[in-house]
Formats: sequence, C-alpha cells, structure tokens
Amino acid sequence: MGIVDEDVVRVRESADFVAVAGQFMQLKRVGQRYVGLCPFHGEKTPSFSINAAHGLYYCFGCQAKGDVITFVREMQHLDFVGAVEWLAAKTGVTLRYTDRQEGEGRRRKAQLTEAVAAAVEWYHERLLTAPDAGAARRYLRDRGLTGEEVRRYRIGWAPDEWDALSRALRLPDAVLTGAGLGFLNRRNRQQDVFRARVLFPIFDPQGAPVAFGGRALPGADGPKYRNSAETRLYSKSKVLYGLNWAKDDVVRADEVIVCEGYTDVIGFAASGLPRAVATCGTALTDEHVRLLKRFATRIVLAFDPDAAGQAAADRVYEWERAHDIDVAIADLPAGQDPADLARADPDRLRRAVEARVPFLGYRVERALAAGHLGSPEGRARAAEAALAVIAEHPSDLVRDQYVMTVADRCRLDADRLRTGLALARRRGRTPALPPLSAGDRSRDGAVRDTNEIRALRLAVDAVRGPEMRALLHDVLFVDERNLAAWRALRDGPDVHAAIDRADPGAADLLQRLAVQDVIDDPRDIRRALLRETALRRRADLERRARESPEPGAWAPSIQWLQGRLEAIAPDARPSREAEDQLLAWLADQGEER
Ligand code: ZN
Repeated sequence: MGIVDEDVVRVRESADFVAVAGQFMQLKRVGQRYVGLCPFHGEKTPSFSINAAHGLYYCFGCQAKGDVITFVREMQHLDFVGAVEWLAAKTGVTLRYTDRQEGEGRRRKAQLTEAVAAAVEWYHERLLTAPDAGAARRYLRDRGLTGEEVRRYRIGWAPDEWDALSRALRLPDAVLTGAGLGFLNRRNRQQDVFRARVLFPIFDPQGAPVAFGGRALPGADGPKYRNSAETRLYSKSKVLYGLNWAKDDVVRADEVIVCEGYTDVIGFAASGLPRAVATCGTALTDEHVRLLKRFATRIVLAFDPDAAGQAAADRVYEWERAHDIDVAIADLPAGQDPADLARADPDRLRRAVEARVPFLGYRVERALAAGHLGSPEGRARAAEAALAVIAEHPSDLVRDQYVMTVADRCRLDADRLRTGLALARRRGRTPALPPLSAGDRSRDGAVRDTNEIRALRLAVDAVRGPEMRALLHDVLFVDERNLAAWRALRDGPDVHAAIDRADPGAADLLQRLAVQDVIDDPRDIRRALLRETALRRRADLERRARESPEPGAWAPSIQWLQGRLEAIAPDARPSREAEDQLLAWLADQGEER
C-alpha cells in the first residue's frame, strides 16, 4: 500500500524537523543550523546538523543523512509508509493511499514473474533434451560444468529460431514484451529476444526469476553476451547474479565475493566458496553495494578493479565509508578468470580469496611492481607512482601506513615522502569524503573550501540559493563532483529533487553543504569563479597559440579575454555588464570545445 506522492510532500513540508528531532535528542542552535549528538553513532562532541529551512540532516561523523522522513524511519525503525503515517499523525495531514494502483501493479508483476519462470523451465528443458542443443551441452561440458550444476542453476538453451519460445508459451503480447522475453516484429508478430544462446537465468535475492544472461557459443556471430533488457522485474544496477543461492553463506562468512561472469559464480561454488555473485554486464554500482551490505561487511572483488579505471577507486573508498564495509581484492593469478581456475586448481582459487589484500594495498603493490626498484631513479619513480595512488585515500592514518611501506621498499626517507604526498593531494582532486580519524576531521568535513564549493553552498541555501543559482553556469565548474552537484541543482526544482537526482558522491556533497553556514556573497563568489575560469581559459589559449603554426590568429581572443579579466579584477569596480559578457563568452567557447 502506497501513499499518494502529493501527500508525502505535504507531510514533509508541514513537519517541523527541529521539533521532531527534539523528541529524540538535544539540539542547539548554531548560526543557521541546529546541532546535537548524533543519534546514529556514539559520540561525545556533536557532529549531527539539521538545516531547518530545507528539513535536511547530515552527520559529519557517520555520514547519516536524509530528510525528516528518513530520520523517523531510522529512529523508529519504520518503513517509508510507516514513517509518513507517524509524521502525518503529528502534523494533522490526512493521507490518501494508492491502494488500487498498487494492487494492479502487484498483479501485473506476478504475471511477468510467472512468464519468466515458464521461460526458464522451457529453455532449461530444451538444453537438456533437444537435439539442437548438442553444441551448447558440449560447450558447458568443456567449461567444466557438470549435469548437476546445469540443473541447479537452471541453465538453458535458446534455439536458433525466430519465435520458438513465443510459440511454445503463447503469452499475451504485453506479458511477452513486459517480461523481456520477446517483442513484436514489423509484421506485428511475436518474436523471441534470445536466439542461439546459452541462457543463465538471473533470480532476485528471494529466488524469483527476473531475467536472463545469454552467452553466444564460441565462434557464433554477434556479441558474446547479451542480457535481458530492463523490465519491471529487472534492473541490472540492482540485481546481482547468484545472490539467491549465495546469501546464506554470505551471511555466515560475513563476506561476499563479487566476480564478473556467471560461470565464475558457479566455479566459486564448485570450489567450496558458495558466496560469490556477479554483476550482469555492468560495473558494481552503489545500489549493488547497498544491497550486499545487508548481508555482509566485507566485499572481495575477484576481478581486476584497475581495468574499471581511475573513477572506480574513488567509488570504492566512498563505499567503504558510506556503508561501513571493507573492500578487498582477491589475489588471482594474472590473466586467469575464476571459472577456469575453479576447474584447473580449486585450491589456488580458495587461496586467492584467503590472501585477499585491501584495495589500497593492492593498488600500491601494482604501482611498485610496475617500477624498476633496482636503480635509484627507478625507485624514485615507483615511489611517486605509489604516492599518487595513496593520495586518493581519505584517511590520513591509512595513508601514513602505506607511506611507510613505500619508504621501506623504495629505500627513501618517510618524511620526504610525506611532503610529496601532501603535494600530490593538493594537485589531485578534493577527497570525496572526510578522513576516517576523528582527530583529522575538520568541523565541517574535509571538503576543501574552494570557490566552487562556496558557490554550491550558497546555491543550496534556502535564502540566497535562488540568487546564486541564477548567477551560475556549468562552465564555471571544473571538479567533476562539483559539476554533477551543480547540474542536479540547476535542473531544479529544489534541493530535495537535486539530492534525489544526483549520483551518490554529488548527493552527499549537497547534503553536507545544506547543513553548513553560509557567509559568502553570491556576487563575490561568482566574480571569483569567473576569474578562475577566465585565467584557465587564457592559459589554454596561450598554449594553443604556442602550438599553432599561426600564433597571431589567437591574439584577438587572448587580448579580449585579458581586457575582461582586468575589468573584473578584485580591485576593479564591480561591473555586472563586464561579468555577464565574460560569462557568455566563456560559455560559448566552452560549448565549442
Ligand atoms: Zn552520526
């Protein structure tokens, strides 16, 4: 049973957050916010802040955050509907329910699940018995799968036909397409989604089938993997293959292994580690981690996380902090996937999980291993590479331990490395989250107070926000997370919508800024941002001029920009016109690039 959205908004808006929170804790007004001892973690000095105007809270100690509904949910251990009802009773709002729609939705969902379940059985039967599935059975045997495994994981075969499943199941069009099993072709006839593929059914954690992962046989045309499209039942950023079978062992071991392939999951189980899950053709998402966190506090990645790129590192640290989990990397032999290793050397696979290393340790080792530690120059370069990796970690205590490791391995003085690390951190991006140790934590978290941050803090402010937002533009932001936060705000209509829309890093930043005091003036901040952007652009133009065969062609632009820079210099008389012209020009140029 759901509550009409409009009424949820009314409850949120009419609830007095400070009064509600006051029932559970002592609050003190400090500047524009209210602070108190966090009810969600033990502490002696207050880290918990409420922005009464927006009705948002944020704890700088444990990163608990949300609005008044989240607060009541957590304090009273209620679900969403329960929390809204609790608040409605206090505020006198009468609630309307979406009863009828919900019942309808549930019925439709059950219908789709039934259709997918029928398809699972049909494809499975086809694999076991049909003559045309011989190649598929051989392929699975070659990969080391036993008949028992094929049955346990309900593996199937989609024959090389246009509509074999559609003809067999005779589902209504809406159910066939809604379940992601088929579609209507140009002649308005039902056609199957999967053709000539080995199918791994994907189940939700409760064991209901929701989708398929399809693998082409070796040598076949088309992409190797093809998964079901997203449906009402299936969202690939939320579902993990194998969790339905793995969850008991995950809870028992307080550990979940995350790998990349369906056969990896099966291989882990065959090797005595029935606690592996796989993402279904996507990177691990925040939603996956949130789901896994319900079952275990340690995630062991059984794939090469660096292959996922630099952005992954920030995300991992953010997960560790936000969800209070540890992320480690399995010590797999280079170039071997778990599925193969499970068949060739299951002992080695088990050791790979036992000998897991923390994420940062893994990356530091990688950086050191890539260097030549035999020469002084090689050691210095390796140390630099390792420091760049260490610099990304949010905790200074953790960073320092790795600095000592690097000093030892590269035979360098630890204090000199610490200086290098400080430089690397200043050059790098602002750390996504404040450091772990209480001693290192600044009052307002470790977000460095750049002009971009000041602008965002103003932009979320209940009073100055509209003015600041009207003055800002995408082109004024360089930092990726700040830009993402700004875009979410820009798209309106309010801070709540922006937080819902933003990715986790940007949402966390917005939440954090919303409970901080505003001291700056929107006009000053915009002028400062404009100057920074213009200076960057001037350097950019000068570089291009130097590299160009016709440097003179760049001179007019550089001169024009120089003139604008002087017009908005800190000691110049503020000119709205000069600023607007400059912003328009920068925005224009920004789009060209
Ligand atoms: Zn807290």
